[in-house]
Amino acid sequence: MRRTHLLAVLVTILLVAGLLGAALSSTTIKLWIGNASMSVNGAQQPIDPEGTKPVIVAGRTLVPIRAIIEAFGGSVAWESSTRKVTVTLGKDSLDLWIDKPQASPNGTTLAIDAANSAVVPVITNGRTMLPLRFVAESLGIDVQYDGVTRMITLTYSKSTVALPADGSNLLLGNPSNAVHDSSSSPDNCLMDSGYYIESYNRDRGEPNWVSWYVGSSSLGSTPRKDDFRADSTLPAGWYQVQANGYSGSGFDRGHNCPSADRTSTVAANSSTFLMTNMIPQAPNNNQQTWNNFESYLRSLVTQGNEIYVVMGSYGTGGRGSSSYQTTIDSGHVTVPAHIWKVAVVLSNGGKDLSRITTSTRVIAIDTPNINSIDSKWQTYLTSVDAIEAATGCDLLSNVSVSIQKVLEARIDNN
Ligand code: MN
Ligand code: MN
Repeated sequence: MRRTHLLAVLVTILLVAGLLGAALSSTTIKLWIGNASMSVNGAQQPIDPEGTKPVIVAGRTLVPIRAIIEAFGGSVAWESSTRKVTVTLGKDSLDLWIDKPQASPNGTTLAIDAANSAVVPVITNGRTMLPLRFVAESLGIDVQYDGVTRMITLTYSKSTVALPADGSNLLLGNPSNAVHDSSSSPDNCLMDSGYYIESYNRDRGEPNWVSWYVGSSSLGSTPRKDDFRADSTLPAGWYQVQANGYSGSGFDRGHNCPSADRTSTVAANSSTFLMTNMIPQAPNNNQQTWNNFESYLRSLVTQGNEIYVVMGSYGTGGRGSSSYQTTIDSGHVTVPAHIWKVAVVLSNGGKDLSRITTSTRVIAIDTPNINSIDSKWQTYLTSVDAIEAATGCDLLSNVSVSIQKVLEARIDNN
């Protein structure tokens, strides 16, 4: 009995240690200027068989990059015709060219050192030497330098949790770090219907945002089910908005994930009629502006694209077909002031997340929840950055920060 108990404890400890190891792995490398060895997680080893050492040139540290990147689990590729070095680590990649003071992290072009154009990649004794700080920061590696011991400490922590698969409804990332915990985050509660994923807000009685994928496999011939209903999967004790909860309010039951984006099966279409997928939406916003935008996005899918969409709402108060209102359904449902959508458009293909570059088309709109609205969705084009500022969400968070910077500042003009 006692032995069994001890064994159970040991197995539990091993399991927990294994799980922690799987969630986050961190590698630390130490190098010293003028020293041909490095330490990888405490184990001393030569940087390379040729005895290459980190050096300081033009006031900046250059290091033989291959040994370091490979120790972190990345790779280095060389294209001799253009003298280009491509460094890949996790979801980030960086192009540099020998003797050129510009580099290209994740498809953007940047000065390696804006204050010093003498900082360039060089080849010394057949080794490619790259400017350490620029490379490290472009790839998410933390760099510390101790001027006294001339020691460089590099730390790279990577999540070993697999990136979401193509077609995942949450491929772009979880915009508000929602978790399914009814007590700790009732107003940012992650829910997965199987056909879209959302952050539900108990106190607003509606989602903060809903995220889903639309590809050719999403579109079929299932007719609109119209089976509006309460969502019984909400945590126990939470108010469930009923199918008739918006009746007489002057607001439509506005879908986040549209019925027409889920026509592959009866179950898929029916899922969009859960009241947890609805917001009170001014009828002209829903039936004109929003419907036009949804139809436009589906036309892109029909033309050979696949789309990742996030839709949400924020603020309080709107004007439907009757008066201005802040809440409906006896105060259980907040009328949002603004309704937004962000769509990332990719031509059909694989490895979707890695195909999102600085030239990917991103369409973002933010509309007022009022009935006197322009039916043209293009009137409401905005940037992802503006929506992030208004909502506090981080959209496209699974995309590398340098690509987000470019994509999120842009306003679509097609
Ligand atoms: Mn941003
Ligand atoms: Mn973002």
